Amino acid sequence: MIKVTDLHKSFGDLEVLKGINAEVQEKEVVCVIGPSGSGKSTFLRCINRLEDITSGEVVIDGESLTDPKLNINKLRSQVGMVFQHFNLFPHKTVRENITLGPIKVKDMNQEEANKLATQLLEKVGLSDKADVYPASLSGGQKQRVAIARALAMSPKVMLFDEPTSALDPELVGDVLEVMKDLAKEGMTMIVVTHEMGFAREMGDRVIFMDEGKIMEEGTPSEIFDNPQNPRTQTFLSKVL
Ligand code: ADP
Ligand code: MG
Repeated sequence: MIKVTDLHKSFGDLEVLKGINAEVQEKEVVCVIGPSGSGKSTFLRCINRLEDITSGEVVIDGESLTDPKLNINKLRSQVGMVFQHFNLFPHKTVRENITLGPIKVKDMNQEEANKLATQLLEKVGLSDKADVYPASLSGGQKQRVAIARALAMSPKVMLFDEPTSALDPELVGDVLEVMKDLAKEGMTMIVVTHEMGFAREMGDRVIFMDEGKIMEEGTPSEIFDNPQNPRTQTFLSKVL
């Protein structure tokens, strides 16, 4: 589903991604861990072209992101992204946040879009919140709306960038539950997370990044129980 080959990304003189090679199969859940500043967010942002790629290649379901003929709107609808800080539209209701994309980008009519929003809100456990504004929601509820909004575009892949890092601890569980349901339904997912429990339970594979490189990757048990790279060992000794 995703193939990343020798991906480099620089901001001016600062090289943030230094040759990333990775593959994600359909229905696979890949968790990305690593210290702050190691390039995890930049990596995700390159995968849906929120950042231009400096060199290398990213192919998603057969389409190269560096192809000049790439339709960026289509790509973004196929690659859903959920951010740490939700990024909901504050002046739109929950329902409008969800229906906007399908109406604008997928030419869905209002009635269909409303129906879809109702289904998705049920899925994330927020059926009663369709007509409220984001400001009246808890962080966990906002994040579940953000997930519903991304799903409304019927993405082939979902990217999560520390989706629970901004949440009060008691709100983390509900968001992780929604993500687990998605994983069980067979969604292809890349999840940058500090939730090692989630990575261990739901990850088919775990990637450890440091200083713009993939230092180690393996099954959760390989990475968590028997890390080979000293940097992985040091990182895990701090977070586990
Ligand atoms: P992580 O998500 O692992 O914490 P990031 O991908 O956010 O890491 O950042 C990696 C490095 O890239 C950091 O040094 C950060 O300051 C830098 N960086 C990220 N985005 C930009 C940007 N738009 N302009 C300049 N530097 C950036
Ligand atoms: Mg980040």
